[in-house]
Amino acid sequence: MNTSRTKSETLPACILSMIMTRCVATAGVAAFMLFAYGFPAISGDVSPSLRHSQAVQKPGAEIPTPPPRPTELGPPQSTGTSPQEAAPPPDAACTHAMTSGHLVAVLVAPVVGPDQCGIAAPLKLSAIILADGARVPLEPESLLRCDFAEALADWVREDIAPLAQIAGGGLTKILGSDGYECRSRNRIIGAIISEHATGNALDLRGFKLHDGRTLLIWSANEDLDFMTQIRDTSCARFTTVLGPGSDGYHQAHMHVDLKVRHNGYRICQWDME
Ligand SMILES: [Zn+2]
Repeated sequence: MNTSRTKSETLPACILSMIMTRCVATAGVAAFMLFAYGFPAISGDVSPSLRHSQAVQKPGAEIPTPPPRPTELGPPQSTGTSPQEAAPPPDAACTHAMTSGHLVAVLVAPVVGPDQCGIAAPLKLSAIILADGARVPLEPESLLRCDFAEALADWVREDIAPLAQIAGGGLTKILGSDGYECRSRNRIIGAIISEHATGNALDLRGFKLHDGRTLLIWSANEDLDFMTQIRDTSCARFTTVLGPGSDGYHQAHMHVDLKVRHNGYRICQWDME
């Protein structure tokens, strides 16, 4: 009895003794490890193997992203331009057109698509300045390629204005129509893309003269000499001219464009009665 009673009374003390012994042993091992390898988290003396594990991103691992910029800070300020950030160089044709003194126009952002439509170097033309400084509005203003706009201005300044001076004391307004428009030729579904879809064409309805007359393309007989010379001078400058009698789509306006064709082929179709 004494023996069993002694065992039951000493069992908790025995368990406590075993735990203390193991704790002391574990603490001893930890102290040895710290002494032998130092305190990397405090000293920053990270072992080479640890540096490597931090530098190499595991395949497929999520790349950590910085926290969002606080809205109260506003947009980030540029600290300079890299080659990727630099603005594209100005288009030479646009620079020439805008500095010629012949156009009242504003440069606009490149027009992109859909499909093959678009203008890489566009401007919006609202008037042409004649040699005497007179300003002739183009109504409505038109979105055009810069080089086409300058060719149009040359025609107005060098041919139309002198013809209008003879016919009616001068040119006061150009009645336009379509400039840029993303569409097929003559709006026929399935037809090839129109030059209008690249800003390389303009439709004109007529001209207002200083004497008050408005000479319209569809009624060329009102001043046949003037309109005949409009046709002939346009055909000398543009690669496509389509007017009344050409194809049924141009009875009330004339179309001019600078389409480039194989072997320099040109089209000039406008029947004068
Ligand atoms: Zn047209």
